[in-house]
Amino acid sequence: MPLTSSSAVNSSVNPSVSSLIDPQINNSPASVPEILEKALAGEDIFPAEAVALLQQDQPEIIEMIRSTADRLRQEQVGDRVTYVINRNINFTNICEQHCSFCAFRRDAEQPGAFWLDFGDILAKTTEAVERGATEICMQGGLNLAAKINGSSLAYYQKVVETIKSNFPDLHLHAFSPQEIQFIAREDSLSYAQVIQALQAAGVGSMPGTAAEVLDDRLRQILCPEKINSNTWLEIVSTAHSLGMFTTSTMLSGHIEKPHHQAAHLNYLRELQQQAMLLCKANANAQNYPARITEFIILPFVGESAPKPLRSRVGRDQPILADNLLLTAVARIFLGNWIPNQQPSWVKLGLEGATTALNWGCNDLGGTLMEEHITTMAGAKGGTCLEPEQLKEAIKSLNRPYQQRDTLYNLI
Ligand code: SF4
Repeated sequence: MPLTSSSAVNSSVNPSVSSLIDPQINNSPASVPEILEKALAGEDIFPAEAVALLQQDQPEIIEMIRSTADRLRQEQVGDRVTYVINRNINFTNICEQHCSFCAFRRDAEQPGAFWLDFGDILAKTTEAVERGATEICMQGGLNLAAKINGSSLAYYQKVVETIKSNFPDLHLHAFSPQEIQFIAREDSLSYAQVIQALQAAGVGSMPGTAAEVLDDRLRQILCPEKINSNTWLEIVSTAHSLGMFTTSTMLSGHIEKPHHQAAHLNYLRELQQQAMLLCKANANAQNYPARITEFIILPFVGESAPKPLRSRVGRDQPILADNLLLTAVARIFLGNWIPNQQPSWVKLGLEGATTALNWGCNDLGGTLMEEHITTMAGAKGGTCLEPEQLKEAIKSLNRPYQQRDTLYNLI
């Protein structure tokens, strides 16, 4: 039972957007060393201070930011680097939407369209379990035909039950806030009804994808058909209030500016603060409410993206240096509240992701076993890593490695 209605949650989560959108209104009076000192003293920095850090371009100042992030990471979560053995299953790429960064989606009749049947999903899951997976991560396109007896929810429940009836102990990390809204819309249900039904079927946690950048003006360019920022926040808040853990993400390195990035981080921090305060208020409650388990930066890969956005961004692969600075600022801004931070090896490559472990990250993500969404966009990082490769990468930094489960319990 939620403590508060989703509209109440939503209104308290949203910061004063206007003060974040315009960096002229909210310029940081503090110098970079003062901001970093404040962070090292354990205080949260302001969004305008994050903007000031993100605007730096002098190597020695960037090194100060990196070393602060690395020290905070060490203080907040230690030297251990975790990883998870998981399999990604993208069950269909047939999608009603047309996000401008997406090279994955197809219309049903288009070449390259796919839709796995329940047998395929079970076969992939079985293979993953045989290879040691503790988690299946599942997301797909918004496929209007994916219904059972006219119900989208019934279809998604069947997907979940296909996995959970055969592997009850496997953690199912599934369905983005966008998919939750899609099911709710198709079946005329509330977000809470959809989340509760999927939770009852066996979903263990939700990916915090579809966040892209939480700025509605940018979303009009990036993903005009997607849920807006408030709806994303509302669905994730609702999930937390129902005991459903989520991750959190940011799509970076396209048309967004530092003040958009800072505003996005601030939305996530406020969302997490709210979840944690509610948790404190209900110390005796079992698994209620939940919160954000990790933050992942997803740099834009444009190689096969639709032309207009690709041309506007003007490059095909992420700029590692930009990603690393954002990684460090994310640690400084979010670390008191979201201590687990992960780079995307699919997008940065294993070498780039390993470098990010010195810029504030403490987790190297999952083995994935297969990945389609980013790979179809032209990412060079590959689609599968063996646990040994992740361990070797971590060892190369003289840091200890440790397998974990989806919710960051050590294995
Ligand atoms: S990003 Fe997701 S919702 Fe957008 S077009 Fe691609 S598959 Fe569809």
